[in-house]
Amino acid sequence: MSRGEKEKMKRMRKRIGIVVLIILAFGIFNLIPSFSKYSNSAAITANEMELIDGMIFKSPVIKRLEIDLDNRAKEIEAEKQRQLELDKNKKIAYLTFDDGPSLKSTPKILDILKENDVPATFFVLGSMAERNPETLKRVHEEGHSIGHHSYSHNYNYIYGNPNNFMAELKKTDDLFKRILGEDFNTNLLRFPGGQFGAKKNEYARIAKKEGYISHNWNALNGDSEGHNMSTNFLLNRLKSTVGNQKEVVILMHDTDAKATTVKSLQSSIDFLRNNGYEFRRLPEN
Ligand SMILES: [Zn+2]
Repeated sequence: MSRGEKEKMKRMRKRIGIVVLIILAFGIFNLIPSFSKYSNSAAITANEMELIDGMIFKSPVIKRLEIDLDNRAKEIEAEKQRQLELDKNKKIAYLTFDDGPSLKSTPKILDILKENDVPATFFVLGSMAERNPETLKRVHEEGHSIGHHSYSHNYNYIYGNPNNFMAELKKTDDLFKRILGEDFNTNLLRFPGGQFGAKKNEYARIAKKEGYISHNWNALNGDSEGHNMSTNFLLNRLKSTVGNQKEVVILMHDTDAKATTVKSLQSSIDFLRNNGYEFRRLPEN
């Protein structure tokens, strides 16, 4: 055995000796009740926690921080209650535009909404979205809500049976994803012609089961009550149907034929604002 190897052996024996001593010492401590109490790691942890608690958490600085946090939480809660109370008395207007997106009217409507910082909801036709995908993208990018209004707007077909109706929703959903990205999702739905009459109950039930939420309207500007209705007529129809309702969902159309809806939009927004309405969009999900 070389000198180096002997040294190594010596060191190794020394280490083994120390380890044996430690094991023996623990064994003895465990036999003596007062030591075994401290060899219990849970007991030490609990004791330590108590110590730390006494030293740190009960210090005046921490106590003051605790009080500050408590006061802040109370302030936030009070602010939330004030906001809820304000919301209860608020007048809300949801502008909704059906049958687009169109080539000429929709971009003009988007310009006016942007200038006035007003959010709106567009119930689009799949067939129109296919024709004007860039406009649909703009509607989405400018923060407005997009909802379903069928693909074809062909009453005979979509109301022929619920399968046809649902197939058009599915087709339009696929289109939305193709144009706006896979992550886009909307469950907003407006029935062409509105969800009125017993005949549509079954359609509504199936659509609801599939997660769609149907929205009718309780005010309108009358732009579908004839061709090229004057801006005066549209504004008066809006005023009379809004009345003194607290929350209004206003039906309008953004097809290219509805040029006077575009023309009267600024006055319509002004009228609603002057009468205390705040503008909101219907939530997509
Ligand atoms: Zn429509």
